[in-house]
Amino acid sequence: MSESTGEFVRRLPKAELHLHLEGTATPETLVELSERHPAGRLTLEQARALYRYVDFTGFLMAFKAITERLLTADDYELITWRMTQALAAQGVAHAEVYVSVGVVYYWRRIEFEPLFAGMERARLRAERELGITIFWIFDAVRHFGVEEAARVFHKAAEMRREYTSIIGIGIGGDERRTGAEPFRELYAEARDAGLRLTAHAGETVGPEGIWGALNIGAERVGHGLSAQYDAELTEVLAERQVPIEICITSNVRTGSCASLPEHPVRRYFDSGLMITLNSDDPTLFGSDLSGEYRLAESEFQFTAEQLRELASNSIEASFLPPDRKVALLRAVEAVDHPQ
Ligand SMILES: [Zn+2]
Repeated sequence: MSESTGEFVRRLPKAELHLHLEGTATPETLVELSERHPAGRLTLEQARALYRYVDFTGFLMAFKAITERLLTADDYELITWRMTQALAAQGVAHAEVYVSVGVVYYWRRIEFEPLFAGMERARLRAERELGITIFWIFDAVRHFGVEEAARVFHKAAEMRREYTSIIGIGIGGDERRTGAEPFRELYAEARDAGLRLTAHAGETVGPEGIWGALNIGAERVGHGLSAQYDAELTEVLAERQVPIEICITSNVRTGSCASLPEHPVRRYFDSGLMITLNSDDPTLFGSDLSGEYRLAESEFQFTAEQLRELASNSIEASFLPPDRKVALLRAVEAVDHPQ
């Protein structure tokens, strides 16, 4: 990407809609956190080793290992603050961030609410000092089952009464072990509680995974990689303008997409799908949002005006209130074209 396009992308107000809080913690930060908890002290080399994986299953285990190093509200506060700094530096105006409440409940069997207090402190500071807004999405791990997901979603509904920053719920984890359908009732309940609905779908399984997510009312689809194999599904997604949270680097790094040139992002855009670019787990994938825009330009020939359209899509696909969307969309339009 030329320097002027890079600067153009930085200046475009953007929303990041598919980002896992735990996947923004760097190995260096894990070392720093480990020094607060002497029993679990890590060297940098040990911390870096936690981030290594060879396939999707290994990636899920790495994610768990990192999450297990986050012990207190202060730990969550620090990683949240550093995440917001990294986002603000890239010109991200708003982010909707997954937090893996499912992993905290299932593996650690502790209450989530005290940890959340730390995330909120950092969120409010970021709003004040960096001018960036954050919404939280409580993510359940699908292969832990419906009962575990119920704990996560009920907690989201309960806490939302106090914290309006909790905007929605989602299911991540291993689609090969369960589709979306078993969560249908829980999704209906969450919607009735005022929560917005997202779902990782069609990342490691075929189009049936995406149909399943649509059938239970998901408003946004995370990844949606396998929609490319189903013309009827592609048509439905385009017609309904269902936002797809595309994560190019993530898909290649986990092996969900065999190689970069095979990624369907360009074909999706040309078919009129409502796509957004996202970084997913930046410190596990070596990605960031600017980098995803850079890839769109260098590998998939998106023009500067098309990158602007992607920024607009990210705002439109967000769960922000209409007045803030309008203001941000105007700001996107007002950024000068690179020379
Ligand atoms: Zn994800």
